[in-house]
Amino acid sequence: MASLELEALRKEFDGGSIVAVDDIDLSIDDGEFVTVVGPSGCGKSTTLRMIAGLERPTSGRIRIGDEDVTDVHARHRDVAMVFQNYALYPHKTIEQNMAFGLRMSTDLSAAEREQRVTETAEMMGIGDLLSDTPDQLSGGQKQRVALGRAIVREPDVFLFDEPLSNLDAKLRTTMRTEIQRLQEELGITAVYVTHDQEEAMTMGDRIVILNDGNLQQTGRPKEVYENPANRFVGGFVGSPSMNFLDVTAEPTGDGIRLSDEDGGFAYDLTGGRVRAFGDIEGGSYVLGVRPEDVSVAEGDGQAAVPATVDVLEPVGSDNYLYLNLGDGSDGFDGEDSPAFVARVSADVEPAVGERVRVVFDESAVHLFDPRDGNAVT
Ligand code: ATP
Repeated sequence: MASLELEALRKEFDGGSIVAVDDIDLSIDDGEFVTVVGPSGCGKSTTLRMIAGLERPTSGRIRIGDEDVTDVHARHRDVAMVFQNYALYPHKTIEQNMAFGLRMSTDLSAAEREQRVTETAEMMGIGDLLSDTPDQLSGGQKQRVALGRAIVREPDVFLFDEPLSNLDAKLRTTMRTEIQRLQEELGITAVYVTHDQEEAMTMGDRIVILNDGNLQQTGRPKEVYENPANRFVGGFVGSPSMNFLDVTAEPTGDGIRLSDEDGGFAYDLTGGRVRAFGDIEGGSYVLGVRPEDVSVAEGDGQAAVPATVDVLEPVGSDNYLYLNLGDGSDGFDGEDSPAFVARVSADVEPAVGERVRVVFDESAVHLFDPRDGNAVT
């Protein structure tokens, strides 16, 4: 295994009119499992393909361990890639598919190759499929073969390009756990690309979030979840998404008063994280609150925002309340009023149309600069 380093890595297409990857810097430690996530077209696959040597960077460097591999042909990079569509040879047996990568390494005898394939197939739970061909296998089994084929080569770096997208939800969850187990057992250095933020959050030691070819944030999943660097990350990570609301914020001495410019509400934040905002200047901000940090006020005394319940969606142990914020005054009710989602426990069941008052967990509110989207910290 080895570390992986991307330095100012850039890829342009069509003579520079498309910047798919915009000067990305990233260091991945030996044995680290990094997930790369972002919306369609953000540059995930292009980044992975450059690491694999399938795409030539416009500029920047790629290092694997101590070696600069930027100009090294794909075949001579010690990298294995697992694809969404498995990429198995249809007319070869599973054993031949798995052994294929090994054929190229000359320092193994036929017996050693066979032993490695058999051991890996056993580890992957496909030992009894070795004489089958891919068309006899289910999607999950094919993906196991593809993983086994990568593992058997013992490469320095594993690259995964949405490997579980073609599997059904249940199998996806099983395979996630399995890949994580293998990664830990084998100490694999891995870059795992997915568009599914939940997959990225649950699997990665570290998550990298891309948007528009730019690296938005990298960190442990919990760090990124709790402290998004900007509005994009706040909205992309977490489901249902973070709620956003355009507000005017004024320091009040012992806290911050948030108000809506239409006069729909005023809300005094006084405790918790508010102190972390320090001496913010009064002005326009975007308030960000995650659904689990919104609750329905119990008494009348608390600072709260009036709201009307639009939809109640039960999801097992919790209810999602889709709310329209506001007090019913002109310009701040009905269709024009901001929508908010609250994730509350299943025993909180207000009726649709009911007026409630919502409160925010002040230790978990976020403020973003409306101009550049950056978090106020
Ligand atoms: P998806 O999740 O949809 O696969 P992605 O994040 O992997 O998206 P990329 O496939 O890396 O994104 O594409 C990044 C950008 O580069 C997109 O705007 C895409 O259209 C463009 N692009 C990718 N490959 C080429 C190419 N060969 N020629 C021209 N433009 C390309």
